[in-house]
Amino acid sequence: MRVFDGHNDVLSRLWCAGDDPVRRFARNEGHINQAAAKAGGFGGGFFALYAPSARRPYDFRGFRGHAMPLPAPMDHATALVPVMAQVGILRQLGAAGMVTQCISASDIRQVMDTGGIAALLHLEGAECIDPDLLVLDALHGLGLRSLGPVWSRPTPWGEGVPFGYDRDGDTGPGLTADGKRLIARCADLGMVVDTSHLTMKGFEDIAAAGLPLVATHSNAWDLAPVTRNLTQAQLRAIGETGGMVGLNYATVFLSPEGWRSGRATLEDCLRQLDALIEGAGEDHVGLGSDFDGAPLPDGLQSCADLPALIAAMRAHGYGEPLIGKLTSGNWLRFLRDALGG
Ligand code: ZN
Repeated sequence: MRVFDGHNDVLSRLWCAGDDPVRRFARNEGHINQAAAKAGGFGGGFFALYAPSARRPYDFRGFRGHAMPLPAPMDHATALVPVMAQVGILRQLGAAGMVTQCISASDIRQVMDTGGIAALLHLEGAECIDPDLLVLDALHGLGLRSLGPVWSRPTPWGEGVPFGYDRDGDTGPGLTADGKRLIARCADLGMVVDTSHLTMKGFEDIAAAGLPLVATHSNAWDLAPVTRNLTQAQLRAIGETGGMVGLNYATVFLSPEGWRSGRATLEDCLRQLDALIEGAGEDHVGLGSDFDGAPLPDGLQSCADLPALIAAMRAHGYGEPLIGKLTSGNWLRFLRDALGG
């Protein structure tokens, strides 16, 4: 069984490493690499473009407080360099025959059926887009098909939620007028708009724009009261709008113990899946690993361990049709409707 995943950070991991990305992807390191993908049946997913504040991953692992301050804003010219460099990394991986960039569900299916890794380009935080939105069209031309307006940083489009515990995502204002213009242009271009990291008001702004609500990598707040997780009302709205939510494996978003200690288990993942299904409905839930961007549960240390997650689904009582929907079927059906093809 092969998995299509809602979110990973392998491109920014390779960019932060700063050396030959093709050689590095061929080595057995990180959460996603060539050998681990083959071993675990990782068939592809949304590959995020992301501009870190420094050339290293955002480190929240030591933070256990109420609300970590938002990182400083980044101007669009500064953000554009890492984003374009990560597009370049994907093209190099493509030229080496390691990953195939896709722009439609049928592309993805074909790559997955032939044993490849399918990459759908996603922009996590739209800092790099200029006020005239011309960079958006340029990135669309390079194959960008999904965009989250904000990561956890103030932007001209809106504000992300800070990392925080024991509070919900109602931490600040929604999308700005420019942010609403941005998502309208994404809709015109036929792109997915992602609500992960948005404030609750921003989530409502996207619902008000009539777009399907998608949270590529977010969990159920009832089980882990972290700002980035979704209330049952938000999960219901995702189901009602024909959207999708992807299970985030990050230990800190899975359970209270995960937040406190940074440790979590596959059982925590299954409890979260139950809650996501209860809220959004079984046709609107998939996976959204956060591979290469987050600390992972025991027993799921890279994409090579995906069979252990699937075995845990079986042991939990999920039947094969439901497992098929969660591991790839729902994402592919959603993308066929959202992107055409
Ligand atoms: Zn993220």
